[in-house]
Order: sequence, then structure tokens, then C-alpha cells
Amino acid sequence: MQQRSFVFLLAVACLLQVESSSPKSRPVLSSAQQYPSTLELSEDGLSLMEPAIVPEPEDGGRWWYTPSRKAHIHSGKSKSRLMQSLMLSNKVDEDLRLPSDVLPSNYTIRLLPFIEEGNFTTDGHIDIFVDCVRDTNSISMNAADITFKKLSISVLDLSNNNPLTMVDFIDEQSTREIVTIRTAEKLMAGKRYKISMDFVSILNDELRGFYRSSYMENGVRKWLAVTQMEAPSNTRRAFPCFDEPNMKAEFSIILGRKTTMRTASNMNIISSTPIEGMPDYVWDYYETTLKMSSYLVACLVSEFEDVATTTSHRVPFRLWVKPESRDLAGYSLSVAPGMQEFYESYFKIAYPLPKQDLAAIPDFSAGAMENWGLVTYRESALLIDVPRESRSRKQSVADINAHELAHQWFGDLVTTDWWSIIWLNEGFATYVEFLGTNAVEPDFRMLDQFVVRELHYVFGVDALETSRPINYPATTPDEITRMFDAISYDKGSCIIRMAADFIGLETFNRGLTRYLNARSYKNAVEDDLWLALQQQVDEDGISLPTTVKDIMETWTLQMGFPLITVTRDYTTGGASVSQDRFLIRRNPNSTDTHVYSWWVPLTHTNGGDLLVRKTEWISKDQPSTTIGNLGASSDNWVIFNYDQQNLYRVAYDSENYRLIAQQLMVDHERILDNNRAQLLDDAFVLASVHLLPYKSALDLSLYLKYEKEYVPWNAVLSELSYIDSMLYSQPQYSHWLTHMMNLVTPYYSHVGFQESTLDAHLTVFARSDAMSWACKLQIADCVDNSKAKYAELMKEPDNSLILSPNQKSTILKTGVENGGQAEYDFAFTQYTSKYDTSFLIAAASSKNVSRLNSLLNKMLDSESGIRLGDVNNLFNNVASNPVGNAVATDFLVNQWDAIEQSWLGTGYFVSFFRYVCNRQNTQAQLDRLLELRNTHVDILGSSNTVQQGIDVVVENIKWMELHQNEIGNWLADNIPPATTTTQATPSFANGNAKMNAAFMLAVIFFGMFFKP
Ligand SMILES: [Zn+2]
Repeated sequence: MQQRSFVFLLAVACLLQVESSSPKSRPVLSSAQQYPSTLELSEDGLSLMEPAIVPEPEDGGRWWYTPSRKAHIHSGKSKSRLMQSLMLSNKVDEDLRLPSDVLPSNYTIRLLPFIEEGNFTTDGHIDIFVDCVRDTNSISMNAADITFKKLSISVLDLSNNNPLTMVDFIDEQSTREIVTIRTAEKLMAGKRYKISMDFVSILNDELRGFYRSSYMENGVRKWLAVTQMEAPSNTRRAFPCFDEPNMKAEFSIILGRKTTMRTASNMNIISSTPIEGMPDYVWDYYETTLKMSSYLVACLVSEFEDVATTTSHRVPFRLWVKPESRDLAGYSLSVAPGMQEFYESYFKIAYPLPKQDLAAIPDFSAGAMENWGLVTYRESALLIDVPRESRSRKQSVADINAHELAHQWFGDLVTTDWWSIIWLNEGFATYVEFLGTNAVEPDFRMLDQFVVRELHYVFGVDALETSRPINYPATTPDEITRMFDAISYDKGSCIIRMAADFIGLETFNRGLTRYLNARSYKNAVEDDLWLALQQQVDEDGISLPTTVKDIMETWTLQMGFPLITVTRDYTTGGASVSQDRFLIRRNPNSTDTHVYSWWVPLTHTNGGDLLVRKTEWISKDQPSTTIGNLGASSDNWVIFNYDQQNLYRVAYDSENYRLIAQQLMVDHERILDNNRAQLLDDAFVLASVHLLPYKSALDLSLYLKYEKEYVPWNAVLSELSYIDSMLYSQPQYSHWLTHMMNLVTPYYSHVGFQESTLDAHLTVFARSDAMSWACKLQIADCVDNSKAKYAELMKEPDNSLILSPNQKSTILKTGVENGGQAEYDFAFTQYTSKYDTSFLIAAASSKNVSRLNSLLNKMLDSESGIRLGDVNNLFNNVASNPVGNAVATDFLVNQWDAIEQSWLGTGYFVSFFRYVCNRQNTQAQLDRLLELRNTHVDILGSSNTVQQGIDVVVENIKWMELHQNEIGNWLADNIPPATTTTQATPSFANGNAKMNAAFMLAVIFFGMFFKP
């Protein structure tokens, strides 16, 4: 599954949970009240919830209900089902796992969805062929929100075709999501049985199970039904099943549809036959799937059109799409088959299904889902109008395709045994997506982007004491859902990349093939992977200090990652190297007594001989070790974590930093791109958490005036942004701006403002980064060009060719920031007429206090045109704006009652509070925030998010105490003042006039050197 959007949904769900746990809104219910067991029977004898056993329809005969008879069943459906399930998901004290006395081998599933307003249910009949492994009187399987028909339930002994006598049917759908059939006679180990039953499931609007979605076509709403079974297990909402990933089976699917619709599923249709008694309906019979997990079953019933590839491939590809989006299918169709073929050759295992379908679903919870043979996507993840959309969108579409197609092997062919090790699916798919995208779009340089897209991101999330090990227990739906996070995906991908590096790419590749072959159509645990890699390592004669399992378990079974500290001995040529868990912040009251240590591959090279790449190891039992000879002379630098293939940060002694900085200034390309990115990122992060003097980091950064590569720049910009936001309005700020202009001007000058069709992919990315800073620093060429484009757009607002999608956000922001009332008004009107959020964000970047106030006031008016979904984004952008931060804080403090009485209510206070914290760094600001929290303790008092905000301000204050003067002194020592600008202390509280004056002086000075 592609999780990025999903993580957002998860955050929303968590927010809902946070809100629901506040004293104000949590309903105090007994458990019986929380999980109502409605006994209300409808005319048909069907009920929505428990008890689930209901009589057959009076007229008997057909097992399905006609729409007219069933339509009212779910009219009283609970609106708060999502909340209900979130509450349910917190249950931890019950066994939610199935016993494994009987295991499924084959399902025949007949589903007839009624995709029509007022009905939205599915009639189903299922035959499950099971093998009995241990004698038992009871068969438990998963079901949720399913209505069973009691008389239809049967268990047949296939050795003699005798039915067993059912003595009880225990329905625990609302608690354990399990139903249990008890039989009078025992099922005997070694025998096969057939379980049959009729049921009704709900075509819900919760984006899980078999659910409904819709889109408008010529003013008419068109409905469709589609499945989303993963995260954690929602197949049980579509039909009763053994819904655990290691209970693999074959699925024979039969889908009913109206003759005006079409269906798609994992396999190809064999035949279609009319449905008896329903003239407008047809059954589509599908080929039986290969053996697979229940969460990979996929069904789509819609009026979509299919678009096939025009090129010829061994496996045909089709893209399913609503008719009006047909033209947006081309890009995915052009890259996906090549990716799949790359994987076939990379894994040396042919894709085993007869076809591949990709479907664009209008309402979809995740980014995409890897159902075997029918991959489903949210529309924006699959469809793109390439010439009109940004390069980053194009890359993300390619990337998501590569991720889902990688899952066809990692996840579908070989499946994680249980959700606690979902990284075996997701970490691998994330790692391999870089290879798959690289294979079809080499210009994207995905392998070069890995460090800034994955590794440095993981350094952020895994450096908190609240992180978790990759391999982590998960049983409840809530726990399982939380496993789909950055640790499984991104950290998983980082440790795989690290293993590939220390094992060697070719041996690693052969090991993967070995693993996939050994576990095909089965499940895998970590040991299966370690074993396959070990066998390959042994076969290929690769030397490692201990087993692959020993090494890798230090990375999967404990959280965090090390900081490697290298202290060179310039006399002996050696170094002492120590490891310690890297944390952004240490909680003095932590009760964690675990001693964190890893098996770490200490790869290193040096300035004397760049071809030398040495590897020593520090073992998990060694807090430190000594390397006798680094192979570098005392005037040569040494760099550890070669090409930044490994998951650790590095700190050096000050002399080595000096030698590296010297090399960077002389010829930075003698150090690899990834290592330049690493040096900058490590040094600034270590300095920010007080583990390194800022001097070392700032000295390194001086070479950036020669740096033209996207990756090192991208790695350091967020760290520079932090310093920028802290020093803003301080006496050191103008000097800091001078330094930044020294660095950014040549980078911007290198990429220039004008796009060209010949631009390399990363040049486009580099231009976005460089423009964003150049315009922020008021570099004249950037500001003038942006203003000109903005003026052009004001004349022709509907001409979409004026702004390049890659430059749009910076141009809009710069247009407003450097414009007057007319430019601001234009942005806001464009937002309300087009609902294009980038215009709203542009309006929020105004430097005019009264305009910002007016914007925030508009937010309170439900008629202003600001959408509820954009409120957080708007407030966050005002709060992040250097001028807007004070405006937003004043607004929150002074307009509290007005906000509460507006359509926003109390729901936004927590996030608003959090947004204003990032830029605040004085005791007076902290006191004001604490006072605000105390005044509104009922809403802000118990929120973790509010506490995080306070913690950030406390850290900022500490940072200022420790580093403000340190950086100021470094600037004074190293950066020549930019004529008069150094005397100007920007004070922007009253708008943009003074700021622009200060900036413009700087621009005039540096403009002399600037060549557009
Ligand atoms: Zn995935």
C-alpha cells in the first residue's frame, strides 16, 4: 500500500481520537452502551447489527434479495461508524486472532452489489473449503457488519458429503470481529470440509471493505462499488473469511452487475451469464486466483472505461478510469509495464498473473493498494496531465506505480506472516520503488534522491524517544493500523539499502531472488529473509563479522539509530570510534533502561585516495572501538558512512571538520554528492542539538557558493531555515541574510528563472528550491521575474500557460509579498473562484499586517469562501510567515471568543496553538502561550499537541541562549558585512516597508554580482 495520504488520514483519525478523549466531548458510556446490540428486526427478518442470525426470506428460493425488498434495511445506519470503530479499535484485552484449527484452501464467493441510493448493500453467498488441522467442534472466522442468514449456514464433511449439525452460532462482530459456528460432531484433523452461507454486507461509505464511491458525469451522480481490504483487515466487511495474512487460499470470484456496468477483479473473466429473475443483471465469472492472502482480493463494479497499452507486452496492462478522465491515463500506462518488466528481470521471477489492471478510484483512503492483478489508486496517484502539472507530481505518480508493482512480489507473492513485521512488505516496496522508477525514468535520478527523500526523513522521526522498533507487536486493528508508518516504510527501506550495501548489490539481489523463490505463495518472517541472504552470502564467499541475522536484528528489534563519533589520532593515523543512540532530545525522566547498540558497518574513505573504500565494524557489544590505521595522512580528511548508504549520523573531531571544509572549498566534487548532503545535514543537526559547535557546521556551509547539485542543497535548506526563523528580528539577522545571499545567489544564478524543456529533472527541482530562497532573500532577478509573471496572470487569470506548475507557488507568494492591495485581492478572489489552495497560501504570505488580519477574520465567516478544509492550512501559513506569526498569535489570543462562536467552534484551537509555536523563542512569548493555555485549560490543558508546541518554544529559547551569539560571532568573523545592510536591524512588526528597504540595499549590493 502507498501510505503517504493514508498517514494523513491516520493523523486526522488520531486527532479525532484526541478530541474524543477530551473531557468535554467524550461520551461516558458503559461498554454495553458503546457497542449497541440492536435487536430491531426489519420486515424481512434482517437486522443491521446483532443478533446476526436471521430467518431466510419468506419466499425462499433465490438466496439474494431484490433491491426493492432490501432497500430500507440500512436506512438507520449509524452515522458515527468511523468513531465507533475507532473506539472499538482500542480494545486490547480480547484475543482477536483466529484459532488455526481449520484453514481455508479455496473460496467461491458470489457477490451481488446493489449500487443504488437507498440500498447500497451486497448480497453474498460463500463456499469456503477448509482443511481441518486439529480436531475441533468450532469454526471461527472473521466478519464485520455482516448480516448472516441462519438457515443458509452449513458445514459439509467432504469425505462423505454429510452435513454436520450446527448447534450454535456465536456472533462477536461488534467486539472481536469474529463469528463462530459450533457443531455437534467434531471436525477431524486431516479431513476437508465445506462451509457455506448466505449473507448481506454493506456497501459502506467508509472507504474500506466493499464500499461505494461516486463521481459526477454531465450533472448526474454515478456510483460505483470497489474494495479496499488492507490496513488492517477489512475483507471481513465484504464477506466472512479467514482474514489473516498467513491464511492464504485461492479465490473463485463471481461478481453480479447491472448490464450497464462492468466489473474487474484480480483475474480475467471466464464467462458472463444472466442472473435468474433479474433481467438487467449479469454474473461475471472469474478465473480462480493463485494462492494469496484475503486482504489482496479486489473487486470493482462501475461504469468506468478501460484504456489498454498501445505497446505490446507479455502481460497486458489496462487502466480503469471514469470516462472523462480517459486522457489522463497515458503517463501511468507508459511507465507501469516497463516497471513490472524491470522487476521480472531484477527478481528473476515472472509476474505470475495473466494481466495487470490499474484503477483510478474517486474516493480512496490510501495512496494506492497493491491488490494482486488489480491495483487501485486514488485518482491523483494514477492520473496526470503531464504538460500541465509539476515535475514533483509526475515523479510521485511514477513512484507510486513502482511501489505498487514492487508489491506484486513483495507482499502478494510473498506475504508478511503478520502485521507486526509489515516492513517486510512495505520497507521492501519502498526500497524497490526507487529501483523501479529509476529503470523507466533514469533522468529522475531516484537513487541519488534516496538520502533526502528517505534517509534524512527517517533521521527525524526515529530520533525521538517515542519511536518504535521496526518489528513491533500489533494485534488490535488500531495497533495494526499504526504499523503503516514511517518506521515500517521508510526506516524499513533504509536498513534494506544498508544491507544491500554491506552484502554487495549482486549478492543481495541473488539473496532476494532466493528468498522470493523459497517463500512464493507462502508467508515470511524476518528469519526467512535473513536465512536466504545468509545462504547467498555464504555461497558467494562474502565476509561478514557475524551472521546477517545478528547484524540485522540490532536494526529491527530495537528502535533508534546510532551517532558514530570519530576521533582521529593524527599521530598514529588511527581513530577511536564510538556509538551512542542519537536523540533529538533526552527526557531526564526516561524510564527506558535498554542499552542501545548496533552492529554498524563503518565504511570510510579519505582525501588521499578516493578509490579506497574501507569497511570495519563496530559490534553491538562495543560502545567504542579503535581503528589502527585509517589509511589517511594527517593532512587528509576522512569521511565515514561512504555514500551515506548506512543509517547513522557521524560526528568528527574539529581538525577533521577543518580538513573537510578545506577540501570543499578547493574542490567539493572530490567528495560524493551523498556525502556532501550527509556532512551538511549531520553537522547542522548535531549543532542544533548542542552536540557540535556551530562553527564546524557553518564552516562547512561556506562551500555552498560553489554547490550546484540539488541533493546537498536540499539536505541543508531546512536546517538553514531553522536558523533563519530563529535569528529573524535579532541584531544578527542582516548579517545572516548577507551570508545566505552569498550562498544562494550563485545557485539561483546557475539554474536561472527560465525553464527549458531540456532541463534535467533535478534541475527543475533545484530551481524550485533556489527560487524559493532567492525570492525570499529578495534577489532582484527572482523577484522581478515573479512579479512580471504575476502581473501577466492578473491580466489573464484563466490562461494556465502563464505559470509553470514547478514555479507557481513561489511566483504567487512573491507576487503577493511584493505587491499591494490589488495583488492580494487577486490572490484571494482566485482562491474563492477556483478553489486553488495555492492562491490562499499566497494571500497568507503577505507582509502587510492589516491584510493578514483581514484574512484571518475572513476565516471566521462561513460565507467568505474559505473552505473548512483549508482553515488549518491558512492559519499555519500565516503563523509561519515572519510577519504573520505575531498577527496569528494576537488573533488567537484576542479573538478566542469570536473563533469559538464562529462556524469553526472549538475544533481548531489545538492546531492553531501548535502552529504559532514554531517561530517563537523568547521568554515573553512563552509566558504568553502558557497564560493562554491556563486561560483555556478546558480545551488546551490536556492536549499532547499543545504540550509539544510548548516544548518546541522551550527548546527554541534554549537554542537562542546557546547559539545566537555563537552564530553572530561566526558571522562577524567570516562574512564581510554587506555595506550598510549590516547596520540595519530589520523590525518588521509594522509591515513590509522597513524590511524591503533593508532587503533592497542588500539586493543592490549583491545584484552587482548577479548574472541572470
Ligand atoms: Zn505499500
